[in-house]
Amino acid sequence: MNPIGIFGGTFDPIHFGHLRTAFELLQALRLTEMRFMPAGNPPHRDTTVANAEVRLAMVQAATEGQPGFVVDDREIRREGLSYSVDTMRTLRADFPERSLCLIVGMDAFLGLPKWHQWRELLDLAHLVVAHRPGWRAPSMGPLGELLVDRGTGRINDLHEARAGCIYIHAVTQLEISSTDVRKSIAAGRDPRYLMPDAVRAIIGQTGCYRPKR
Ligand code: ATP
Repeated sequence: MNPIGIFGGTFDPIHFGHLRTAFELLQALRLTEMRFMPAGNPPHRDTTVANAEVRLAMVQAATEGQPGFVVDDREIRREGLSYSVDTMRTLRADFPERSLCLIVGMDAFLGLPKWHQWRELLDLAHLVVAHRPGWRAPSMGPLGELLVDRGTGRINDLHEARAGCIYIHAVTQLEISSTDVRKSIAAGRDPRYLMPDAVRAIIGQTGCYRPKR
């Protein structure tokens, strides 16, 4: 079913923590592709700092040349915030026969019951949970039950069905955070070695994280 990984985020900016996670999952789960999907600008511009066009350009520059890495700008074209379930519906319409694997961090997964129409999400896609430090898979409560129902340790399940499984996978942890990167740049420091040089160049050219006067 040529599974497609979907890696969404604000990517403000994209860094090696994101790229390494995406690469390890692409390889370990034998995904045909990993689609990076930058989020649109929020209606009130207070959570992202670089605008959508610059964030998209950084994601394109970061992923260029890596076979299997694909950039998907549908959330940016759509403008405003989109629910994951709505985005997955559009992907399902575009790829009716493919397995779709939505990548989420363990922190996001723990909040799943609060997501809009989250049960329907599992009709549309698999969930792949990437471990971040300090997080454990829940063993009790609604998520514990859901894992008993839908959890799998078989990568082949992601290849044999289009949707419906939850797969938890540990990835190498690089303790890089976009928020810290922005703060450090605003303080005049150089983000070198936290991200590809091409992303650093865009940050330099656009001055997107320079403090506003
Ligand atoms: P901030 O650091 O400002 O909180 P973020 O990098 O967590 O931002 P996003 O760009 O939205 O925010 O992250 C996209 C996805 O990448 C999320 O699923 C997030 O959990 C994951 N992610 C973020 N940082 C890392 C990292 N260092 N290693 C692995 N995954 C990460």
